[in-house]
Amino acid sequence: MTDARSVELRDALARVEERIVAACSASGRDRGDVQLVVVTKFFPVEDVRRLLALGVTDVAENKAQEASAKLERLTADERAALTVHFVGQLQTNKARQVAAWADVVHTVDRARLVAALDRGAEQAGRDLDVLLQVDLDAPGEADEQGHADGGHRASGSRGGAPADGIPALADEVGRAEHLELRGVMAVAPRGGDPERAFAALARVADGVRSAHPRATLVSAGMSGDLEQAVAHGATHLRVGSAILGPRPAPR
Ligand SMILES: *Cc1c(COP(=O)(O)O)cnc(C)c1O
Repeated sequence: MTDARSVELRDALARVEERIVAACSASGRDRGDVQLVVVTKFFPVEDVRRLLALGVTDVAENKAQEASAKLERLTADERAALTVHFVGQLQTNKARQVAAWADVVHTVDRARLVAALDRGAEQAGRDLDVLLQVDLDAPGEADEQGHADGGHRASGSRGGAPADGIPALADEVGRAEHLELRGVMAVAPRGGDPERAFAALARVADGVRSAHPRATLVSAGMSGDLEQAVAHGATHLRVGSAILGPRPAPR
């Protein structure tokens, strides 16, 4: 593909790849242990096709409706070549729909959602990989400096369960027949220090992994903080605007 947009995406992918390689080498990690997930929300299916042609294997969406409409426009071969991640806040009543098409759901943060996704996966005749979303803003977050500020949350919580609720939720997923617990996910708090946030996430990830050895994934890091995420053990980086450009306004 030689259209101008493909060239733009190819160059942006190369710049992000350079950042990932540099971050891995700075922390002595193998590039192969970090998966780039390109967040294609708000961008058209044509961009997903361009990314596929450029070798991208993993894409993420954050709106159930938008994502399924987009994925329906892919051919069976195109769809089969992709791992599709769901990274948005998920209402329980949309869980069944998402369970029918997502390969990995990153935003599991409550028991009712575990049950709904498990039922949805069963009805769709498939198994689903899930990550538990940790709310690093939540009071009582594993903050060893003691800076938790008594219940204040940054405006517009991005979802997630408080760190102290994660072990029970992990066991819940462990009991779900059609869900596979693969790890944890977080978004660094707005205006906070991503280093501290991702260090806290790493501690939560260790705890989950000790009880659930297959839960080895850590989804952390976006366009602005992927270096800090790699330094703290992220296995999956969710990068949108650094590759696709500024997001168009939601329709
Ligand atoms: C949109 C989004 C991203 C990508 O953010 P960028 O800053 O554009 O890289 C990552 N994670 C989640 C959960 C998102 O909703």
